[in-house]
Amino acid sequence: MFGAIEAGGSKFVCGVGNGPEDLKTIQIPTTSPEETTASCIDFLQQRAGGELQAVGIGSFGPIDLHRDSSTFGQITTTPKAGWQNYDLAGAVRAALHVPVSFDTDVNAAALGEARWGATQGLSGFIYVTVGTGIGGGAMVHGRMVHGLVHPEMGHIRVPHDWQNDPYRGCCSFHGDCLEGLASGPAMQARWGVPARDLPGDHPGWSLEAHYLALALVNWVCTLSPQRVVLGGGVMQHWPLFEMIRKDFARLLNGYIRAGELTARLSQYVVPPQLGDRSGILGALVLAQQACTLEGHENP
Ligand code: ZN
Repeated sequence: MFGAIEAGGSKFVCGVGNGPEDLKTIQIPTTSPEETTASCIDFLQQRAGGELQAVGIGSFGPIDLHRDSSTFGQITTTPKAGWQNYDLAGAVRAALHVPVSFDTDVNAAALGEARWGATQGLSGFIYVTVGTGIGGGAMVHGRMVHGLVHPEMGHIRVPHDWQNDPYRGCCSFHGDCLEGLASGPAMQARWGVPARDLPGDHPGWSLEAHYLALALVNWVCTLSPQRVVLGGGVMQHWPLFEMIRKDFARLLNGYIRAGELTARLSQYVVPPQLGDRSGILGALVLAQQACTLEGHENP
């Protein structure tokens, strides 16, 4: 039996199981690091007891993913009070004495979709969430991309037309990066209401679609994904998908020749098939990977 933790800025989802059929979860509000982690550990111990083989964690970030780093497993420069430099993976490992695998929340969600959701059978795709922040994970040749640290796809620069959109952006690091212009908080700051209360015919939606389509062009030209999954709270406004597809096709202007981008665009830019369970199921995949890794290291 495997344990899974989806660590978010406002809530943690904690789960035990083997897959979508038997996964049992609870939600824990994110308070102090110590209190929140202790609640997760309690749940995992009670539900799995001695059966727990490994734990996977998909976390908000940025996080340190270098196994040889002294700060591996830590949440690093988050603006979230109290969580800077907190050793989340270390705390879970020390309490439960099982292998712990740790990755970004979006990489976990991407793994969930790859195993059980919208990107099964694909070796290359991207998963992007548009909500409180914007984050993305990329699978290339069947593996999630890691490198210097991990991709920060939400903080790319997109053209900002100050004349049409004088809003200066809300990213505390960059102002008008993609997250600063197109996250949920950016929409709320610009229009005075949360995205979910913005009327369907409000011009804010076409501006939102435009920023996301610009970003999509950059990601698709750089990574050549076989599919793009868009999740997160803002994407709950379903008409946004078609608006993004149209603007994306217009901006690409027929340059990349692939059937997916012409005849099958509606199957190229898609919502997550696992809904809001992509992240927690992906954390379960991380746990299973932790076991495999451990098996190789200690045959
Ligand atoms: Zn930024």
